[in-house]
Amino acid sequence: MITSEHILKRREDYDGTSPFPTAAEQVSAGRAQTGLTATIVVLPFVALGTGLLLAWGHGVVLTDLLLAGALYMVTGFGVTVGFHRLLTHGSFTARPWLRIALAVAGSMSFQGNVIDWVAVHRRHHAFTDRPGDPHSPYRYGTSLYGQLRGLAHAHLGWLFTDDLTPASRYAPDLPADPAMVRVARAFPALCALSLGLPFLAGWAISGSLYGGLTAFLWAGLVRIALLQHVTWSVNSLCHVVGSRPFATRRHDRSTNLWPLAVLSFGESWHNGHHSEPTCAVHGLDRHQIDPAAGLIRLFERLGWATGVRWPDPGRVERRRRTGLSEGARTSAGP
Ligand SMILES: [Zn+2]
Ligand SMILES: [Zn+2]
Repeated sequence: MITSEHILKRREDYDGTSPFPTAAEQVSAGRAQTGLTATIVVLPFVALGTGLLLAWGHGVVLTDLLLAGALYMVTGFGVTVGFHRLLTHGSFTARPWLRIALAVAGSMSFQGNVIDWVAVHRRHHAFTDRPGDPHSPYRYGTSLYGQLRGLAHAHLGWLFTDDLTPASRYAPDLPADPAMVRVARAFPALCALSLGLPFLAGWAISGSLYGGLTAFLWAGLVRIALLQHVTWSVNSLCHVVGSRPFATRRHDRSTNLWPLAVLSFGESWHNGHHSEPTCAVHGLDRHQIDPAAGLIRLFERLGWATGVRWPDPGRVERRRRTGLSEGARTSAGP
């Protein structure tokens, strides 16, 4: 296993273009871990193919699509507003019941338990695009081959490596919170719920077992696959393709990628996010759709969220790269 001391010792040498010093030492996860991850990753994707085959010539039942849309929103906001903006970055304070509800909703997205998710993401911000980053597309260097291999690693490959991110070090506040420990322990049960709910709803609405099964396929597996790949695209594409209007830390190559804005609920304004990670808004410019920020605003109006870190226009402008300062990188955020 690669220890963090190992990384600390050698990441100082990183020049921004060569493969990370630890890249060649990558160790695969154990067989059981690989099998479990493969099931979680591949099964929903296979379901998409099965779903398309079944739907061929028949179309898709409207109920299945509505159920899929509703569960995509619940789990998607759980990840973006809950796991990411609230629990990783503390962009606002939520009422205790809302904090738990968001952690439960995010857990139903099949992206790992809440404590591990937060620890990995905080580590990504601590070492963005340099040795120590758990999922940087620059891991294998900036040659064409290295870049393609890095994209695959950042999207999916990193899930199959033995590269533990200790929560005690990166997210000690969560294991200290009994409610979050309970939600993390319930992760397998919440995954089962995430698949069971659409099956039962489809069965109840259509009155047939077949109706339950197609709902399970579309609103269960296919919905999970779509959200997984959208989230992983933020890790992969949103560090390679797109614009970089704001200054970020040295080596940080996060980008804003508009085509993913709606599906990612605003998370693809990733350069805006990396320029000030604790800010509740990622789409900092006008017309940058940011549904997650909209939901936080609604929570604030209802009195469920307080201490929201809304953007400060002056600070946003100071971080904006101008023609003159293009390429200059300043320190910002944790
Ligand atoms: Zn990032
Ligand atoms: Zn973040």
